[in-house]
Amino acid sequence: MKADLAENSGVRGSMVIKPYGYAIWEKIQAELDKKFKETGHQNAYFPLFVPKSLFEAEEKNAEGFAKECAVVTHYRLKTDPNNPHKLIVDPEAKLEEELIVRPTSEAIIWNTYKSWIQSYRDLPILINQWANVVRWEMRTRLFLRTSEFLWQEGHTAHATKDEAIEETEKMLEVYADVVENFMAIPVIKGFKTPTERFAGADETYCIEAMMQDGKALQAGTSHFLGQNFAKAFDVKFTNREGKQEFAWATSWGVSTRLMGALIMTHSDDFGLVLPPKLAPIQVVIVPIFKGEEQLAEISVVANDIFDKLKAKGISVKYDDRTEYKPGWKFAEYELKGVPLRIAMGARDLENNTVEIARRDNLTKEVRSLENIEDYIEELLVTVQNDIYKKAETYRNEHITKVDSYEEFKKVLEEKGGFIAAHWDGTAEEEEQIKEETKATIRCIPLDAEEEQGVSLITGKPSNKRVLFAKAY
Ligand code: AMP
Repeated sequence: MKADLAENSGVRGSMVIKPYGYAIWEKIQAELDKKFKETGHQNAYFPLFVPKSLFEAEEKNAEGFAKECAVVTHYRLKTDPNNPHKLIVDPEAKLEEELIVRPTSEAIIWNTYKSWIQSYRDLPILINQWANVVRWEMRTRLFLRTSEFLWQEGHTAHATKDEAIEETEKMLEVYADVVENFMAIPVIKGFKTPTERFAGADETYCIEAMMQDGKALQAGTSHFLGQNFAKAFDVKFTNREGKQEFAWATSWGVSTRLMGALIMTHSDDFGLVLPPKLAPIQVVIVPIFKGEEQLAEISVVANDIFDKLKAKGISVKYDDRTEYKPGWKFAEYELKGVPLRIAMGARDLENNTVEIARRDNLTKEVRSLENIEDYIEELLVTVQNDIYKKAETYRNEHITKVDSYEEFKKVLEEKGGFIAAHWDGTAEEEEQIKEETKATIRCIPLDAEEEQGVSLITGKPSNKRVLFAKAY
């Protein structure tokens, strides 16, 4: 909130994303959108409202989301006969069929695909939608879990099972790539257990991140939906052999929760820390001056640096406001996570130098002005890499292998993080561990090594470790 990203609103569980926060979200969007298009997807838009009869069609999906649905029952208000200043719901304007505010759009989209898909020639359909969705969450938190959130949802239809699985895996890779290489957040790719699976999916793949308080965060999901939605909406096509077949589906999404991941992975006690690739302002130049004359002199050099950085495509701001002191500005840009600060005072002017401060590790150095733009350009790359490495080191230090339930509880209590342990594969053991410790299975890592062991509670044999953690 102090970095001016967002604030709570008058609407329960819903936030206001402020311009600075939205600028960061737009950068995340732009990068994802580019990757979606590079992998052959197109954007489209589907309605916000889903008629209840459509919503019900895929039973598991409907059941899974039923508890968190906002439902529109009326379409009109009228003046309260007892109080002309108040409005009441007009009982005569009751909808014949209730409308569900989409918590996710499989139903409305698969109902549409029904008329788009007749033959194998109509496939694949590779569509993404940028939208808002509503899930009536009980415990809400800025960015991490809001009742209304912004996201993208990919919805694809394929002629074969293999192709749909390939798509599910491809999009998980896209997510991991953007989150790691752009947002500098290391993630673990894995499968969800059946209990944690998306309602209506045959398999849910996910990327899981580790926050600095030792709690995990699901950063993105990619679902293989099998033929479940095609069956529910009767989406059949004629295959190459001339036979009728149900289409295969995937869906995948990341949301404004990624902003929460960003904040909690990199920030420190001075505020936000932004990886340069994501920072709306990558470099800020702050003059330190006494009087207008000195400011004018400094500005000549500062504007020159500004132009040179801008020419390199670096987003730079020159803050020559006179109504704020340099110290105030320093604190402000620290709070906002601006990766590099260039300060320039009278002595720098004499010596042809500037002071460069890194937000990520809080170090400062004095540099000559010679080729400063090349140096800054390289330094931004270094900062991006260092922010990633720091997060990765923290994450790796917070994966603990554990072989008994006692140790499991101890590590969870004292250290937190991911716990790699054996599990017997049953929902019962998973549930008991969750009940007793609040830790859940975050994922079964895709690259989990074969290893013989016994599960934490039942002592049954297991051949790979899964990752447990307390999660947001
Ligand atoms: P799902 O459709 O449940 O697989 O979720 C898709 C994406 O939205 C995942 O990356 C979730 O982490 C994220 N997400 C789910 N619920 C919320 C929420 N209430 N607020 C913000 N993001 C959410």
